[in-house]
Amino acid sequence: MTTLPLPPGSTIGILGGGQLGRMLSQAASRLGFNVVILDPEENSPAGRVSQGQIIAAYDDLTALGVLGQTCQAVTFEFENVPASSVERLVRGGAVVAPGPRALAVAQDRVEEKTFLNGVGATTVDFAQVDNLDDLLAGLERLGTPALLKTRREGYDGKGQVWIRSAEMAADAWSSIGERPAILEARADFTRELSVIAARGRDGEIAVYPLGENVHAGGVLKTTTAPAQVDLKTSDRAAAIARAILDGLDYVGVLGVELFDLGDGVLLVNEIAPRVHNTGHWTQDGCVCDQFEQHIRAVAGWPLGPTTAHFQVEMTNLLGDEVDQWRHLASAPDARLHLYGKAEARPGRKMAHVNRVKSL
Ligand code: AMP
Repeated sequence: MTTLPLPPGSTIGILGGGQLGRMLSQAASRLGFNVVILDPEENSPAGRVSQGQIIAAYDDLTALGVLGQTCQAVTFEFENVPASSVERLVRGGAVVAPGPRALAVAQDRVEEKTFLNGVGATTVDFAQVDNLDDLLAGLERLGTPALLKTRREGYDGKGQVWIRSAEMAADAWSSIGERPAILEARADFTRELSVIAARGRDGEIAVYPLGENVHAGGVLKTTTAPAQVDLKTSDRAAAIARAILDGLDYVGVLGVELFDLGDGVLLVNEIAPRVHNTGHWTQDGCVCDQFEQHIRAVAGWPLGPTTAHFQVEMTNLLGDEVDQWRHLASAPDARLHLYGKAEARPGRKMAHVNRVKSL
């Protein structure tokens, strides 16, 4: 039986052993918790800073059973954990946060956009695409250019193709493997923003200042936060975050990617039911960062403050960009966060650096 709030000395399980799991584990450790990671990869970045790692597939029933019995609460660091694994943990009596519904919604772009519009968090117009006829009908309705994305398992711009005319439809459909998809109207945005927010076990909500994000090749390059925004925009972003968190009866930190159309009009691009790359700035900009915030929520603790005390520019270091650590180590405004990954494969997220400026 888990009683909340979890006292220090309790054990928290994390599904996924990447850098997000690592930084969650470090935050949990600082609050006196033990952490056990479940990840199929030996020596994962998170496993190496935790009390233990179960090396098994995410749908390994025995491993899930052990995790559920060892841990007083379980969370996850990425949204493609099989929903059935989370349901298995819940059935076994484990306290899992966020819950299976948040995961199911975030795993499927059609479900996600349907849910978002249902709670008043507007998205671009879209069409569900199950075959080439659906795609042609969608293009007719939404116009071109439009963006075809696989419904599931797309991230960092993968599984996506822009369609500029109806003639391109058949090629686009085959290029995504003729998998269930969504066709999205193009958002005519001036910039991309994101809001990181948390909801506690008692429904308390805490919202961080907005970040402004720049992507390169579909992958996040920088986040600048707090972003320069007017009150209308920050109020709207907070209202969107609240509607989503309450709508999912959510517990934990959530990332919401936004398209800024100007004049306070924001469309939601997608949500991530976890700590988010665009929230890494909080590690050096806020007293309570997104990782501690998530652990607080999962453990049933009160949420921490979200005020920014510093202006931060966060830059991801991909592949061999991580070699910049030598030079960054002597920059007085740079706080380095290295993930301890042995192999710097091209495009792999190896580290990030927060450059800290006074507000
Ligand atoms: P996603 O994988 O959905 O986060 O998309 C990756 C990036 O593609 C986003 O950060 C945007 O820069 C761009 N993008 C995605 N959807 C749209 C859209 N409907 N209209 C315009 N740009 C988009």
